[in-house]
Amino acid sequence: MSAANTAGSQQVGHVGGLPAKKAQEAPGGALPPGWALPTAPGDIIDAHVHLFTVGMIEEYVRNNPESAEVYRKALKTRRFGSKGEPLPDMTPAETAEWYAARLARVGVTMALVVSTMQDSAWLRGFIAASKGRIQALCYIDPRDPEGPALLEREMAAGFCGVKLFPVNRCHRLSDRACYPFFEKAEELGANVIIHYGVSVDPSADLRYADPLDLSPVARDFPGLTFVIAHFGAGWFEEVLKLAYARRNVCVDSSGTNNWRDLMLYELSLEDVFAKSIQALGTERILFGTDSGTMAPYREWIKYQQVRTLEELGLSAADRDLILRGNAVRIFGLDEPRGTRR
Ligand SMILES: [Zn+2]
Repeated sequence: MSAANTAGSQQVGHVGGLPAKKAQEAPGGALPPGWALPTAPGDIIDAHVHLFTVGMIEEYVRNNPESAEVYRKALKTRRFGSKGEPLPDMTPAETAEWYAARLARVGVTMALVVSTMQDSAWLRGFIAASKGRIQALCYIDPRDPEGPALLEREMAAGFCGVKLFPVNRCHRLSDRACYPFFEKAEELGANVIIHYGVSVDPSADLRYADPLDLSPVARDFPGLTFVIAHFGAGWFEEVLKLAYARRNVCVDSSGTNNWRDLMLYELSLEDVFAKSIQALGTERILFGTDSGTMAPYREWIKYQQVRTLEELGLSAADRDLILRGNAVRIFGLDEPRGTRR
């Protein structure tokens, strides 16, 4: 780590300590105390993590009486996820402190939560309490006629973009019904992360897995940036070809990347990064781990990816783009959102 990087880390080093102070109400103007921003070269931003708590799921079930049994079961057992691990039961402010400490322990400066639940007051409270250390993308069904108005409210409340799940929610983003939503997103600068490709979610329908469906959307909304999660999760070639044609398409590196086992040829993580860098350039790749909430932070994935970038011989500036800078630029993560609520 260079001297400049060390200085950068120190600048924000207090942020993740084990802060015991209660969240303070933000005054009207300047950035209130305790905020993490801005980040600096050498910091690491995990641009794809998930958050589930008892409070979030309670709210979801209350607002969605038809919600899947898996959520009701989680409330009964206080366990959730594929391994049935304990679900945190804390207030938004307590969760924000706990999550920041969790990130600090593994040397991550900031994380971006990708929400799966629409219109969550719990998550809005969490963002406000996080003071920039953990930020979030909202989930909205882009076909929902109320979607554009909700997006406007969510961005004003402190969300910094949108996560979309066409393969899990079984629809196409090229559907014209989604266009008013994208028009609003472009107007607001609400950039998008999308899950295409394989998924362990039983509701996923692989007919909607192909990222090439995004081709007309990325063409028609050149002001929006679309980040395809997990390098396309098995649709890697399609992502590279799409990104060649559409400069506003990026990828995130999050997850185990075990979709590589489904390819007909050997593909190491180093190959995946090298090909992505060749086709997209270092300014269109975002680091992420896809860490959940109940299991420990995926420190080994962070280690593996950081080491791979080092082994590829990238300059410190290029590594910083992938590990921090691109997420800051695309999602405005150094802006103090929601401080004036
Ligand atoms: Zn994910």
